[in-house]
Amino acid sequence: MGSSGNGFIKKAMVIGGGIAGITASIDIGNAGYNVLLVEKLPSIGGRMLQLSETFPTLDCAQCTLTPKTVETGQHPRIQLHTYSEVVRVEGQAGNFIVQIRKKASYVDWEKCTGCGLCQQKCPSKYPSEFDRGMGLGKAIYTLSPQAVPNKPVINTSHCRYFLEKKCRVCEKICPVGAINYQQEDRIIEEKVGAIIVATGFDLMPIERFGEYGYGEIPDVIDGLSFERLNSASGPTNGEIRRPSDGKVPKEVVFIQCTGSRDPERYMPYCSRVCCMYTAKHARLYKHKVHEGQVYIFYMDIRSTGKGYEEFIQQTMEEGILYLRGRVSRIFRDGEKIAVWGVDTLTGKKVEVLADLVVLATAIIPHQEVKALAQILGIPIDLYGFLTEADRKLKPVETNREGIYLAGCVQGPKDIADTVAHANAAASKVQSLFARYS
Ligand SMILES: Cc1cc2nc3c(=O)[nH]c(=O)nc-3n(C[C@H](O)[C@H](O)[C@H](O)COP(=O)(O)OP(=O)(O)OC[C@H]3O[C@@H](n4cnc5c(N)ncnc54)[C@H](O)[C@@H]3O)c2cc1C
Repeated sequence: MGSSGNGFIKKAMVIGGGIAGITASIDIGNAGYNVLLVEKLPSIGGRMLQLSETFPTLDCAQCTLTPKTVETGQHPRIQLHTYSEVVRVEGQAGNFIVQIRKKASYVDWEKCTGCGLCQQKCPSKYPSEFDRGMGLGKAIYTLSPQAVPNKPVINTSHCRYFLEKKCRVCEKICPVGAINYQQEDRIIEEKVGAIIVATGFDLMPIERFGEYGYGEIPDVIDGLSFERLNSASGPTNGEIRRPSDGKVPKEVVFIQCTGSRDPERYMPYCSRVCCMYTAKHARLYKHKVHEGQVYIFYMDIRSTGKGYEEFIQQTMEEGILYLRGRVSRIFRDGEKIAVWGVDTLTGKKVEVLADLVVLATAIIPHQEVKALAQILGIPIDLYGFLTEADRKLKPVETNREGIYLAGCVQGPKDIADTVAHANAAASKVQSLFARYS
């Protein structure tokens, strides 16, 4: 199915290849329509690719995600444009003309077999963004060993050839001659009838969050960094070791609502997943470090999903100490991190000497989403999340016919709600296409 007699194009573009974009693409593809899936990173998977295990079932994120990324990569109706960004959108529902910038990867992906030799031999190492600085990445890289597509890109800010005109190890080692340092960005033009925006979320960055020693004390990290430490395919092979000296932390403090529900200083809204992922982190830590002690500072526990309350109860029964109250100060004390706070239930001061502090920092939209919203001609809210047409009755539609939202780009969500939102956006596209025979 391509276009109707009246020129209505029955092909969709999905922007963002996280679990929302993947789900929507598979749904639309399975309904018999072609889909362009545009992802800015070299491979699809989104944040879920960074997670270790997932609440509420504690099953391995990769085991759930990999069948979906593989299905997407092999789907006859889904065309992947990874390492790409949408730069222009014109027209209207049924006939959007879109321009996509395909960024130079400096690797000819047609020739590349994904053997991985170039990554093994590349001598340039630097703190990996994917591993949130917990480990080192290479200048030529894929995001994960199960990357879809399994094709590397060169990061020119760290590649010795681009910095000093030296090295060329990847070019010498590549058995099929796929390295091409001369490659340039390309703009391609496509026509689609509907668009789903699924560009997900970011965590509040260090520079906007000058509190709790974050960015100053290496052993104060955020939730995604903890996910990478706990991940079997992560930089420590799943052993929880603190960044400063690689020691296994024996006392760990988790602090919820750091940046969320704080209207005076940061974000007034609830980030919705932190209560659950903090409980998950605490349990996963205790499963690995049995003698370890965990403290969780919280304001109140919000656990409204199916089975979530039971998950929190189970966490408390596993010996994790919940302290209701805010932390007032965090500072270095020798090799330790002093955490001062108050337990408002007992009214007592709490002072913990911790080895590791994990902050559940606020979920925010990506910085570039504002520019994307302008390109698409759709509104954003006060905090930068894309705005649905109606809070209650049109949660996936925007104020432009043919443009829909899926997942955390509209607001913080867990995976189950993200998938449901993406299913809904995909069915909106199908019913739009069905109206034009
Ligand atoms: C620390 C932490 C732990 C979590 N643990 C759990 C858990 O255990 N269970 C659970 O249910 N939920 C968990 N979550 C929530 C879960 O991560 C989200 O529900 C899920 O990732 C949302 O998927 P998404 O597709 O909407 O967004 P994302 O996963 O953010 O995917 C968005 C994709 O869009 C791409 N993109 C961004 N901008 C552009 C652009 N301009 N053009 C093209 N592509 C773009 C991104 O690169 C990314 O691939 C956790 C969240 C955090 C922070």
